[in-house]
Amino acid sequence: MNILILGGGGREHSLAWAVLQNPKCDKLIVAPGNAGIAAMADCADIDIEDGGVVAGFVAENAIDFVIIGPEAPLAAGVADRLREAGVLVFGPSKAAAELEASKGFTKEICDAAKAPTAAYARFTEAGPAKAYVRAQGAPIVVKADGLAAGKGVIVAETEAQALAAIDDMFGGAFGGAGAEVVIEEFMTGEEASFFVLCDGESVLPIGTAQDHKRVGEGDTGPNTGGMGAYSPAPILDETVAARALDEIIKPTMAEMARRGTPYQGVLYAGLMIENGAPRLVEYNVRFGDPECQVLMMRLGAQALDLMHACAEGRLSEVAVNWAEDHAITVVMAAAGYPGAYEKGSEIRGLEALPEDSSNMVFHAGTRAAGGRIEAAGGRVLNVTARGATLREAASRAYEIVDRIDWPEGFCRRDIGWRAL
Ligand code: ATP
Repeated sequence: MNILILGGGGREHSLAWAVLQNPKCDKLIVAPGNAGIAAMADCADIDIEDGGVVAGFVAENAIDFVIIGPEAPLAAGVADRLREAGVLVFGPSKAAAELEASKGFTKEICDAAKAPTAAYARFTEAGPAKAYVRAQGAPIVVKADGLAAGKGVIVAETEAQALAAIDDMFGGAFGGAGAEVVIEEFMTGEEASFFVLCDGESVLPIGTAQDHKRVGEGDTGPNTGGMGAYSPAPILDETVAARALDEIIKPTMAEMARRGTPYQGVLYAGLMIENGAPRLVEYNVRFGDPECQVLMMRLGAQALDLMHACAEGRLSEVAVNWAEDHAITVVMAAAGYPGAYEKGSEIRGLEALPEDSSNMVFHAGTRAAGGRIEAAGGRVLNVTARGATLREAASRAYEIVDRIDWPEGFCRRDIGWRAL
């Protein structure tokens, strides 16, 4: 099978790594890829948000199967364009990707599916939104409806913060994404992520994870794209997972199919869990980054068979071969991130590190220049390890971190603390 993966972050490096372990993969191309991916597969610099360009590339390179990593090509309808051309693709249609692209749409689906989530109201003007906040009081959560790279959500501790967020959003701080605003009840509990594959009918759980969004140890400081993750998430035990499937995920998938927009691909449910009861925080229509890295480390070669069965509508015929293991990924970021940071610093020592089925350094923002590897983004490396226990996985990952010679980088030393 000739495979094309779209994307170029740590998520896609881990997808490429898992796919290459499967003997069914004859050839792998990643577009655009990055320096780490280029060491294991061909990379192609094409516009991955243009369905016509991707379809042309697929035809020229005799690609049999396309795996779409990030949300932007999905929201742009690249999966639809490929399916029209008869290409087998892993990833939802533009209509199904609305589950991530519009928070108001997701709330509407939750209502129809009777899926537990925060109480909410939708607004297109500041006046009624502010009146609602005054009536509800704080804490309260204000969200731009559309995609805002994780920055369009304000968890307001005071009414004044919520009112200011409403002004910002309708004032254009998030462009078109803030033309509609969703205001939600503040939920308490512990958050965890649940990943399932769905082929339009069947749903197959493929793992759980927890991530660390804040930049500082002890979950302090500003939000980031994610400073680390581990799998499984102890809070999402079998009982809670079964409830999440029956009460939230399966009814959502059934409602999408009923509307004529069945969901196909990986669905990432962000859950808030309190007293064993899960409620939906959000859906994402792709693997999380860095959660994908720990899922791929645990699934290995079978990840390709599962994604392929999903794309072919054969999920009911396959099962996950579960191992009693734990995986962790530690993000190494450029000093200053998530604020301003420098690019171009050299990272040394990578070639001497173990790369096997239990230890991998996935690249996120790197580039190869003049024979050296340089930092080229905020989140730069994902040091990922697997072990019989989370503690073992964590000590392995930090051993590798300590062997990387990159004085301009930093990481959190407490990834996994909640479970440890
Ligand atoms: P990301 O892209 O980072 O996943 P997003 O922009 O899609 O984020 P959400 O996941 O909806 O936004 O919200 C971001 C974070 O805000 C959540 O992970 C959660 O910690 C918090 N949050 C969102 N909604 C609520 C809520 N109703 N109650 C409490 N906390 C919430």
